[in-house]
Parts: sequence; structure tokens; C-alpha cells
Amino acid sequence: NVRVRFAPSPTGPLHIGGVRTALYNYLFAKKHNGTFILRIEDTDQTRYVPNAEQYIIDALKWCNIPFDEGPNTNEKFGPYRQSERKEIYKKYADILLEKGHAYYAFDTPEELTAQRDFNASKGKMFIYNWQNREDGKLVNSLVLSEEEVQKKINAGDKYVIRFKNPQSEILYMEDEIRGRITIKTNTLDDKVLFKSDGMPTYHLANIVDDHLMEITHVIRGEEWLPSMPLHVLLYKAFDWEIPKFAHLPLILKPVGRGKLSKRDGDKLGFPVFPLAYTNEETGEVSRGFKEDGYFADAFINMLAFLGWNPGTTEEIFTIDRLIEKFDFERVNKAGAKFDLDKTKWFQQQYMQTKDDEKLTDLFMPTLEKKGINMDKKDVQKIVASIKERAVFVDEFWELASYFFETPQEYDAKAVKKSWKEGTSDLMKELIPVVSNIEDFSSKNTEKEIKEWLSEKEIGYSKVMQPLRLCLVGKLAGPHLFDIIYLVGKEETIKRIHNAIE
Ligand code: GLU
Repeated sequence: NVRVRFAPSPTGPLHIGGVRTALYNYLFAKKHNGTFILRIEDTDQTRYVPNAEQYIIDALKWCNIPFDEGPNTNEKFGPYRQSERKEIYKKYADILLEKGHAYYAFDTPEELTAQRDFNASKGKMFIYNWQNREDGKLVNSLVLSEEEVQKKINAGDKYVIRFKNPQSEILYMEDEIRGRITIKTNTLDDKVLFKSDGMPTYHLANIVDDHLMEITHVIRGEEWLPSMPLHVLLYKAFDWEIPKFAHLPLILKPVGRGKLSKRDGDKLGFPVFPLAYTNEETGEVSRGFKEDGYFADAFINMLAFLGWNPGTTEEIFTIDRLIEKFDFERVNKAGAKFDLDKTKWFQQQYMQTKDDEKLTDLFMPTLEKKGINMDKKDVQKIVASIKERAVFVDEFWELASYFFETPQEYDAKAVKKSWKEGTSDLMKELIPVVSNIEDFSSKNTEKEIKEWLSEKEIGYSKVMQPLRLCLVGKLAGPHLFDIIYLVGKEETIKRIHNAIE
């Protein structure tokens, strides 16, 4: 029974790396009929941002990545917010103390800095572990007596509880994506698990919760790989079953080196957040994929490919197809470069497959704002005829404005190309022809105008190009008779008049 969790810290908006972690967790869970859990890791109060949790929930919702268990949802193993689980962690810190896998340490930050500086002066790195934890310079329960420790705690001395790393062991670990990883425990720092303010550190809370919530697979970003040895050692110290680990590759900047950071989007001119985000402290607004006009399914399809591929040339994947095809074997070890052009390509592909009616609904507000009253059915026909040239819905107006408004100006090049001597007279002659057409459908209008042309032995392009210019203002757009039909007889005639004058 697969149980996975997405465990963001609410320190700000979720960036696309976080969304991808959530997505891969979700895909993996659903593929195995498992459970996808949202857990809010908010034990670091110095970095807590009040609106971040809501942002995370809203973002997952927009992305269509629903969680089965989480805050206020199916709280079987709840609460799912670590700040509400404080009491639990102390108990487990105590278990480790009792088992001799952890110890109290009273060193002040100044003392630790002095140690580091001393080591640095000798060209050595200071690691708080077996090499020095009992040498008498550090103050901890490994050297103090039980009474001395209790006295310090009672006196309100600041302490931390550290994990006691095993000495001179070789640790073998398996990662679903990276394979076997080996590390010498002597290189590990005795990390802090618990602080005297009553709060656990990320490491302890994370392991305890993954155990209590019966997590089977820990799927998370590569930046947590360095924590994996400690986490594995903690499971061993508790004598708990170790979940499987999968560390996902980084998402990299589109150009140059390095991880795509939260700051990059605004610098490079594209969003890195699913939804726009307002920093409540600075008032600064960051753009979001949603607000930039991306469809959630296009965004998710793009994101799935940042670090994974199906091994075929197939690129358009619905969420169900992703669930079917996703596996760790095809997740890359190397980082994936974010690619804005590819992102737009996905968006354009999805634009073509979207329902015309749905696209029309998205376009109607723009028309309303411009005071244009047109039947939705007719707008839908317009949308159908222009969408293949659009990437975003907000390009519709630019592509379709001539359907709704008489051209105010005519493209100079197009005029030069199509408006010759005699064209005005020809257009004048065309007006009564148009007004005599009774069935104004695209097909019939085309037929009748063509008949007139051949009767009069007038070249086809002599009339068609200028007519397009009259209607559109430039030599572009879909099938001319579709335009004529949608614009209507009266307006067509008016536009011919306008152009002649
Ligand atoms: N709270 C951690 C984060 O913000 C979770 C890391 C993990 O999944 O273990 O990414």
C-alpha cells in the first residue's frame, strides 16, 4: 500500500520545483492506487509566512493535484501541520536519548564558532561528532554527569539534543533514482534534532511524521540528498522500517548554470510560480503561470517532462496518461533546464485541443469589456477560426478584432500590393452583387461571387485580395468567406464603402 507525502515548508510561494515534487508524488501514488498526503512542515518559526500555506493549497488545486489526506482533509493520521504536533516530537527525542542515540549539548553559538575558528586555523574542518564530542572542550551529556545535566536544564540553560552518529561505519543506502549510495559516518555532523524552545528540527519532525503517517516512499528534491544518511540512521536508531527514497533532479536556469531560483522568474521575464504571489511585507508581486494565461494541464504536462520522459516521442500527456506511464526508471539524474519556448509550445498544443465553447467562455469577458454584443454561437465560430494561430486566450482579440470592428487603418504594404488602378471601380460594382445575395452562408457567398467573376471575366485575385483588405485591413486571417459570413452582409458592404472612400 503506497503512501507518499508532499511536505512543503510554508516559507513563501511554491516554486515550480516544489510543484513538480508534488506532481511526481501524486503520479506515483495514483499509479499504485496509493495515497497522496499533504503535510505542512512549519516548525521553523523564523521563516514562517502566514499566507504561504493557503497559497500552496490553492496552487495544488489549480494544478489539479488533489491530496487524499492533509490539513482539514481526511485527517486519519492528523494533525498534518507540524506546529500542531509539537508534543509528539519531544517524546521521540527522549526515546533516542534513552537509547543512547542522542545527547544533550549545551555549547553556546560563540563556543562553537571558536571551535570552528580554531580548527580552521589548523586547516581542518570542524565536525561535531565522535572526533571531538568527548574531548572535554565541548559541553554535553556525554561528558557531564546526569546530575550536572539536570542542573543545567533546571537552571534554564539553553540546550539542543544532538544525534549521536555512529563512529567509523560505512552506510549503504539505496535511492530509486540514483541507485546505491555509500557514505562513511565519520564525515557526518551530529545534527541537532531538538531545541530548548520545545521545537524539533526538520530532521526529527520529518522522520517521526513519515513513520507515524506510514509513508512508504519519500520523493523529494535533490537538495535533501545530503540529509538522507542522517534520516536513514535515525530510522535505524528507532528500529523503524526505512521507507524507499527517490531524490528528484534539480530544475535548472534556462541559460547558464545553476538551480532555477525563486528570483529568476522576475529577472528573466517568465513565471516560476504556478499562481501570482504578493509578498505581504514588501508588496512585491510575482507573476504566475495561471495569470500569464497558461492552461493548468499544459503547465502540468510541461512540468512532468522537466526531469522525466516516457522514452518515446510522445509528448502530449493527459494526467491519466502520465499516471499510467510514470516511473522512477525514466527520471533523470541530471538536472533539467527550464525551457520557456517549450513551455509555450505545450500551451499552444493544448490550445488546439481545447473545446471551442470553453475557449469562447474565456474570451467573452474581453468582448463585454469592449462593449461588443455578439451571440456566443457566432463568437465560437470566430474562436474556432483563429485559435490555431493563438498561444494564449489574450491573443484572441488581436487576432480577431476585425470580426468585431471595422478596420480603422489599412496595412500600407498590403494596399500597395493589392489596390491597383481600377480596383475602386471593381469594388463599387461588387456592392450590389453582395447586397443581392440572399443566402449569406460562407459557401453560397463564395459561389455567387465566383459566378459573377467568371461571368464578367475578372481575375479571381483582382477582387479577392482587395476584398480581404476591405474587411480585415491587412492580407491575413482565415478563409475570406468565413469572415464575410461572420461579419454579415450589412457590415461587409459598409467596409467596402469605407475602403473605397
Ligand atoms: N519541508 C521540507 C521542504 O520544505 C521537506 C523535505 C522532504 O520532503 O523531506 O522541502
